[in-house]
Amino acid sequence: MTQHTPAGLPEKIQHFIDGALVDSIGGETFDVLNPVTNETYIQAAAGQHADIDAAVAAAKRAFDEGPWPKMLPRERSRVLHRIADIVESRDAQLAELESFDSGLPITQAKGQARRAAENFRFFADLIVAQHDDAFQVPGRQMNYVNRKPIGVAGLITPWNTPFMLESWKLGPALATGNTVVLKPAEFTPLSASLWAEIFRAAGVPDGVFNLVNGLGEAAGDALVKHPDVPLISFTGESSTGQLIFANAAPHLKGLSMELGGKSPAVVFADADLDSAIDATVFGVFSLNGERCTAGSRILVQRDIYDEFVERYAERAKNVVVGEPSDPATEVGALVHPEHYDKVMSYVEIGKQEGRLVAGGGRPEGFERGNYVAPTVFADVSPDARIFQEEIFGPVVAITPFDTDEDALALANHTKYGLAAYIWTSDLKRAHNFSQSVEAGMVWLNSNNVRDLRTPFGGVKASGLGHEGGYRSIDFYTDQQAVHITLNEAHSPKFGAGK
Ligand code: NAD
Repeated sequence: MTQHTPAGLPEKIQHFIDGALVDSIGGETFDVLNPVTNETYIQAAAGQHADIDAAVAAAKRAFDEGPWPKMLPRERSRVLHRIADIVESRDAQLAELESFDSGLPITQAKGQARRAAENFRFFADLIVAQHDDAFQVPGRQMNYVNRKPIGVAGLITPWNTPFMLESWKLGPALATGNTVVLKPAEFTPLSASLWAEIFRAAGVPDGVFNLVNGLGEAAGDALVKHPDVPLISFTGESSTGQLIFANAAPHLKGLSMELGGKSPAVVFADADLDSAIDATVFGVFSLNGERCTAGSRILVQRDIYDEFVERYAERAKNVVVGEPSDPATEVGALVHPEHYDKVMSYVEIGKQEGRLVAGGGRPEGFERGNYVAPTVFADVSPDARIFQEEIFGPVVAITPFDTDEDALALANHTKYGLAAYIWTSDLKRAHNFSQSVEAGMVWLNSNNVRDLRTPFGGVKASGLGHEGGYRSIDFYTDQQAVHITLNEAHSPKFGAGK
């Protein structure tokens, strides 16, 4: 199989610190692999403590002395709109690079670039419409909220839809006047390297945006532990989140945590079965199954269980696995051989734990690269590892249930609580189930489509705090309460004698 290589690949991937593209101070690099061949296609600068120190110092200088935090919201908003314009105009190039680096199907990578632009536009609009609270006690006191950027925000992101997820943090962090150090995922540093050029062209002052590539244990760790970084916004695995929590604790940092998931898709017998099948197939196999909100546990009411499993397996067998740059491809190559090994180990575990009805290994005709056939296990028991643990690949577990109570108990029977999808034509059941399901986000008779104003985040092991809309503004700002007396200050006269 021949692979399309995008035009304009850089020679190497560098950091971007204080407005300049630079190598690591000590010259360290790491290999970046092409997921289709697993050959190294480029070297990226591997940030160490010293590189993070340099980036944080630049960001702190830009915050303390530069114009960015003091600019009027409208002025920052204009810059953010320019960023969105540039991202949109580079949609095709961005999607090509993203698909090449991550193995995501090209058609799905295109949507990510548009969404990334939208994230900037959204916060550009929100920041000028932002109003803050004021409270009056007539004749006595006036109180108002003074909203201020916090300082240097550390942004740490994962490799699934990397560019889009970076934009999700960059948009609100910059809109609110903070300066940032971004540490993108080491499996997929390519698209992040475009930010430098985009921000420069949009007129972001030097030092406001800094990018340090590198491994989590080195660059990420140094960022989390840096005393001049009061905020960390992290998206990644729950276990990494736990470690970051502990490492940030001595500094009492502000933390926003978007973590893993094992989300249920619950299909009741009264559901529109055609729509439910379309959505649940897409829900776990889109983005190669490397999706935090994937509906990777499908719970199906027993009356329709056999029919559902049969139709679902048929569809999964027909999902088109292919070269990521081919527009016909529905599932591409997983991001990295380490991740491929992890997903494949779950496929083997699943063969002991469930009934394999589709896939089950490397698809035919794909001798190299990180390809996994869309894999479906039926009759999976709730204590099975493939029911409990996040696989993050094109692998799904299907389990039957009888009553609403059974469905709820099964849906809640994991440590995660990111999303839930409910398929039923009974309105009361849909709303009551949503109320009781332990999930940060619920979609009723719907695929995962999100309005940017809504809260995004998980409960239980899926995260801490909610971003999305004004909640992101809250995370990236301090709200200082200012109190003014409108009358005499009636202070008890301590020390004034009689
Ligand atoms: P990961 O936790 O391995 O890595 C995420 C980022 O953290 C990377 O940049 C990595 O270098 C960095 N990192 C690793 N160790 C670190 C440390 N000790 N200190 C500081 N930084 C460190 O996650 P991943 O494998 O890149 O991404 C997949 C995970 O992300 C899945 O669990 C998925 O569910 C989750 N995810 C969640 C959401 C959400 O919004 N809830 C969205 C996308 C992905």
